Amino acid sequence: MRVPFLDLTRQGKRVREAVDREIGAVFDSQQFVLGRMVEAFEEAFCQSVGCAQAVGMSSGTDAQLAILMAMGIGAGDAVITTPYTFFATAGCIHRTGAEPVFVDIRPDTFHMDAERLRECLQRLARPDEGRLRTPRGNVVRAVIPVHLFGACCDMDALRDAVAPYDLPIIEDAAQAFGAGYRSAGVARCAGSIADFAFFSFFPTKNLGGAGDGGMAVCRDRTFAEKLRLLRNHGMGERNFHRVVGGNFRLDALQAAVLHAKLPFVEGWNAARRRIAALYQSTLSDLSEALKLPADPWNNAGLENHHTWHQYVVRADRRDELLRHLQQEEIGHAVYYPIPLHRQECFAYLGCRDGDFPEAERAARESVALPIFAGLREEEIEMIATALHRFYLR
Ligand SMILES: *Cc1c(COP(=O)(O)O)cnc(C)c1O
Repeated sequence: MRVPFLDLTRQGKRVREAVDREIGAVFDSQQFVLGRMVEAFEEAFCQSVGCAQAVGMSSGTDAQLAILMAMGIGAGDAVITTPYTFFATAGCIHRTGAEPVFVDIRPDTFHMDAERLRECLQRLARPDEGRLRTPRGNVVRAVIPVHLFGACCDMDALRDAVAPYDLPIIEDAAQAFGAGYRSAGVARCAGSIADFAFFSFFPTKNLGGAGDGGMAVCRDRTFAEKLRLLRNHGMGERNFHRVVGGNFRLDALQAAVLHAKLPFVEGWNAARRRIAALYQSTLSDLSEALKLPADPWNNAGLENHHTWHQYVVRADRRDELLRHLQQEEIGHAVYYPIPLHRQECFAYLGCRDGDFPEAERAARESVALPIFAGLREEEIEMIATALHRFYLR
């Protein structure tokens, strides 16, 4: 590969030294599950994100599952999300026994469309019962918008849409660690805007561990205590299980790696923003064929308006372009080629082609280009040259 899609080995020596130091401390303590290092990371995480409560989990998926379990969501319930996201967002809803309900995305940001959400809620509202019910009879309990690709959703617009219904919002912030948003004039970070949030520390995320890890975030101390119970088999006092939970614990070694890497993320995200700006200037002449990604909060007066977890363009003749990039050995990926409502495992929901036209169009048109701290300027030029060769030949 002439240009890798992602090369984490370029994170550098200073990070390695910091990681080694913190891992060494955990190894010396021999306290590998939960414990002081996990607490230290949870505290640093709260400081960084500006959230009240953070509970370390074994993955982003488990963090989401624990939040849904703590809310008491299960059979007879439904949860709204988007059909254009990583599988886990809808998978967890299903796993609780609840029904996933999809709301289409905005074509510019790939985020849940607040207008479509409003229509969906109006359609499901049962004023006689004072609740929202799906045609299958399930009660809508929460909405999970996804801060997809590293920019925040328009949370104020989504909040306005749910306001008449007293529905909690859970932010899927797995791809948006450090992303800023101005909510009612106040600058906030992804994960501190709504009632609940979850993060993933999968190695390829902007804050990535040396394996799996996640974080569940909430405002309320009592709810956080519930999350702590659930991540440890519902066990409060030793041998006494108050509820049925799971093993959703964050390892101390993961916490050590994440604690060490946390101070570097701001710089890495800034590097991603510089790369996005370079793409913008080198690819803008292809705007007929290549639609560059939106940066919705660029004028909100925020340093961290975007974290560019992915740089996703919409391309004419996308599949042909994929073959061309393959030949030219330019790393690339498609997020996501099959919208969730078209996945075999969700066939029981009875969705059809055309139900979510924007998600389907995004699945046909989108391609992610390399973006990571350490991607070199000459590599960006090679990518730009390859794209120009394809569209201008
Ligand atoms: C990565 C990701 C998750 C799941 O996180 P894991 O840590 O891999 O379990 C959930 N939602 C989105 C949008 C993601 O990108």
